[in-house]
Amino acid sequence: MYKLNKVKKKKIILILITISLAVLIVGGFFYFKSKQKNVLIYEKNSTGEDLNQKIESSNNDVVEESKNNELPETTVTKDNSAITDKTEEKVVENNPKEVPAENLKIEEQEKAKENNLNIKDRLVSWGFSSSKGRKIDTIILHSSYNVLGGDEYNFDKIIQEYKDYGVAPHYIIDRKGNIFRLVNDKNIAYHAGESQVPDGRTGVNDFSIGIELINNLEDKFTANQYEAVNDLISYLKDEYKIKYVLGHSDIAPGRKTDPWNINWEKIKK
Ligand SMILES: [Zn+2]
Repeated sequence: MYKLNKVKKKKIILILITISLAVLIVGGFFYFKSKQKNVLIYEKNSTGEDLNQKIESSNNDVVEESKNNELPETTVTKDNSAITDKTEEKVVENNPKEVPAENLKIEEQEKAKENNLNIKDRLVSWGFSSSKGRKIDTIILHSSYNVLGGDEYNFDKIIQEYKDYGVAPHYIIDRKGNIFRLVNDKNIAYHAGESQVPDGRTGVNDFSIGIELINNLEDKFTANQYEAVNDLISYLKDEYKIKYVLGHSDIAPGRKTDPWNINWEKIKK
C-alpha cells in the first residue's frame, strides 16, 4: 500500500494542495469580508452622521429631560414668590387688623368720654327710624313729665308715655342729672314733629339730636340738669358740627311751649 506509484502520489499531493489553497482562498476571502464589515460598522458608529444626530438628539432629550427636571425648580421658585406674596398678603392683612385696633382705641376713648358724661344706655325699640350717615347739625331741648298719674317725675312712666305715643328723644336727663340714651345718634328719633329751623329747613328730626329734661310746668331745671345738659351739648359739639341749639318752642312756635322755665343763659349754646 505504501508503495504507490509516483504518478498517483503526485496527483494526491496536487489535490491536497489545491484543496488547501481553495480553503485558504475562501477562508481568506471571508476573513477579509468580515474585516471589511467590521471597519464599515466601526466607521458608521464613529463618524456616521445618522448616529451622531441620534446621539445629539438623544442628548437633546437628556437636556430636555433635565430642563423638565428644572421646571419643578422653576415652580419652586414660583412657589417661593407665591409664598412671598402670601407673606406680603399676611402683612397687608395684618395692617387692617391693626387699624380696627386703633379704631377700638378711638371707640374706647369715646366710651371713656361718654363715661365721664356717665351716659346710661336705655335704648328703646320705638320712636325712631334707622339711618346711616345722616348729617347732624342741630340740638333740640325739650321738657316732659309724667301725666299718667302719681309722681310727675317717675322715670319709667315718662318712658311709657313716649312708648304710648311712639315717640322718643335721643337722650333724657332726670332730675338728678343722670343722662340716659334712648336712641343712637345716627338714627332719626321722633321728637320734634312738624318743625322748622331759622335757616328754613323743615323736618328737623332728620338732622337733629333731641334731648328731654324731666321738668313739669311749674318747676325749674335743677343745677345737676344744667350741668348734665351742658356736658352733653359739649360732647355733641365735639362729635358733630352743631349749627343750632334750640328749644322745641323755637322750631314749632304756637304748637309747642317746652322746654318750660328754661334759663337759656345757663345753656352753653
Ligand atoms: Zn318737646
